[in-house]
Amino acid sequence: MNPFCTNACSWPDGGGRPPIFCSQTCRRAYARERASLLAQVRWLERYLAVDQVLGRAAAPITQRLSQARWQLARYPDLTQTSEGD
Ligand SMILES: [Zn+2]
Repeated sequence: MNPFCTNACSWPDGGGRPPIFCSQTCRRAYARERASLLAQVRWLERYLAVDQVLGRAAAPITQRLSQARWQLARYPDLTQTSEGD
C-alpha cells in the first residue's frame, strides 16, 4: 500500500489476514510520511484560520494546503483495514 514501494504483497494461500505492507520498514515509512502530511495539513489549516491570511498572501498557503491534501490522498488511514504487514 506504500505508494513508493514496488514490492508485491501476496494474498495468503493458507488464509489469515492479507498483508498490507511488504515489511515493517515499509509500514513505518508509510506511517511516517502520512503523519508528516497530516501535520502539514493541520498546521496550514490553523495558520489560515488563526492568522486570517487574506488576499494575495493567502494564495501560496492555500495552494500548499491543496497540495498536501492531494498528496495525503495516497496515504489513507489503514488502521481499520488490517494490522498485518
Ligand atoms: Zn513495501
